[in-house]
Amino acid sequence: RAKALGRDRSELFDERMRAEATRLLDLEADLRRAILADAFEPWFQPIVDLASGEVVGHEALLRWNHDTRGPLPPDAFIGVGEDTGLIEQVDWLVYRRAFQWMTRHREGYVSINVSPRHFHSDNFAERLLQLLEETGAEPSRLRIEITEVALLDDAPRALRMLRTLRGRGVFALLDDFGTGFSALSYLHRFPIHALKIDQSFVAGLDDAMHPESLALVRAILALAGTLGIATIGEGVETEAQADVLRQLGCTMGQGFLFGRPMPAPGD
Ligand code: C2E
Ligand code: MG
Ligand code: MG
Ligand code: MG
Repeated sequence: RAKALGRDRSELFDERMRAEATRLLDLEADLRRAILADAFEPWFQPIVDLASGEVVGHEALLRWNHDTRGPLPPDAFIGVGEDTGLIEQVDWLVYRRAFQWMTRHREGYVSINVSPRHFHSDNFAERLLQLLEETGAEPSRLRIEITEVALLDDAPRALRMLRTLRGRGVFALLDDFGTGFSALSYLHRFPIHALKIDQSFVAGLDDAMHPESLALVRAILALAGTLGIATIGEGVETEAQADVLRQLGCTMGQGFLFGRPMPAPGD
């Protein structure tokens, strides 16, 4: 009996594995078709100055205009996109549209997300500068969001790339700060314009159950202050969270409290 039960279970497991493998293959094929159809666009979420409330820039966030399931957020397909390398093609389609939007809207900066693997791909910086030239977007209005992993993967290379981009006016932001290795000793060696404090810490700021969030955010802000790096609180949803960030000296905020991601605002 036990044996029979065991076999049933492993058959069930195989069945699930097959179904998952099929789902991933379908998704990959879907993604390839969508790339040919240019079915991706950036949505834009405002980043505000916490003191004045003024919008200082926007983050471009990828959405897939899927025929039947769209618009899809990155979580739905970024895993397959990264495993297959297809995300890089998607990124270029989205960056192009984000740069075109920049040229139509003269206010503030636009930040784009770059995965570690994409950041370290051949000629990334050159291609980015080329696309800026092609679209006529102003390099000094562009920010790239990278994560700590991109810095630590190949530090000398990352440093060269960031210097090249900075030399042309493109600043770098460190995304999801606090969730990675947070090798603090590295920070002062890289030309980083701002740290984006991860939303998991911001969420804990008005929650008595998470006193460690306050301690962490305070430490991050002190560090950034010492190094002369600007700061952006991510995922700000309540006035109380915004107040705490302001009091602790965080200069910028982003989150549903100030505005949700929207398709091409102002167009
Ligand atoms: P991220 O760069 O950390 O972006 C912030 C995420 O938090 C976005 O999710 C945004 O919609 C969401 N968010 C903003 N404010 C709030 C808030 O107040 N509350 C909550 N709960 N969430 C908030 P989204 O758009 O689903 O993007 C997820 C991730 O996908 C991004 O995280 C980024 O790592 C990646 N991503 C987005 N666009 C691109 C892209 O063009 N290329 C690549 N390679 N990755 C991208
Ligand atoms: Mg980001
Ligand atoms: Mg983030
Ligand atoms: Mg994130």
